[in-house]
Order: sequence, then structure tokens, then C-alpha cells
Amino acid sequence: MLRKFKGQCHCGSVAFLINCSNTVDIWKCNCTICSISDYQHLFIEHADFTLTQGNQLLTSYQFGSKNAEHLFCSVCGIKSFYQPRSHPGSYSVNLNCVSNPPSVKTITFFDGRNFDESLARLKQTE
Ligand SMILES: [Zn+2]
Repeated sequence: MLRKFKGQCHCGSVAFLINCSNTVDIWKCNCTICSISDYQHLFIEHADFTLTQGNQLLTSYQFGSKNAEHLFCSVCGIKSFYQPRSHPGSYSVNLNCVSNPPSVKTITFFDGRNFDESLARLKQTE
């Protein structure tokens, strides 16, 4: 059963709605950008994500392979969601930015410092 959850950046300029279940699986990643912010990845398919406000305030940042697009609120600097490299059909929402968030069932620790090897290993076990 999917239900709607609301999320936003710190100042509230960027806000979105997601459809997801009451218990979720999240990722934590040790790459250079995720570890700095202790980002909690909740992957939401593009069709289950609606940006309700703040599109014009999003600032994009890319580095390395430039396959991911990191999106920051230009007012408060918080990345509440972004386009990850690992899941091209989904956004990664920061669970820390979701109000009354779903409960976490499992946490996958993704070795983003060795991105290609880690993703290949995960795909094998799926
Ligand atoms: Zn903000």
C-alpha cells in the first residue's frame, strides 16, 4: 500500500510529495558527497514524485562522471532530493527531509567510493 508523504528543504522553499509505503528500505553511501551530509537515500520512481514548489530555486551541482545531478535549494542550501547515478529512473529523496517519515526496514550500506564495483555486486544479488 502506497501513501503520500510530504518533504521539503530546511526553509520550505522546495517542497514535494512522494508515494511510498509505510516501511521503506534506504541506502547510506560512503562517497565523498553523501558522507559529508549523512544523506539517507530513499529511492522514489519519477512517477511517484511530484515537486510542488521551488523548481526555480533549485541549483544543480555535478562532479566526477556527471551522471548524477545534485539539486540544492538556493535559499537554504539543503539537498532534499536529487537525481542519483545508481537509479536513473528514480529520484533519491533524503529521508531526513520527509515529514512524519515512513519507518526504515533495512539500510543498505553502499560503497560509493568504489561505485561501479558496488553497483555490479548489488545487481548480482538482486
Ligand atoms: Zn530551502
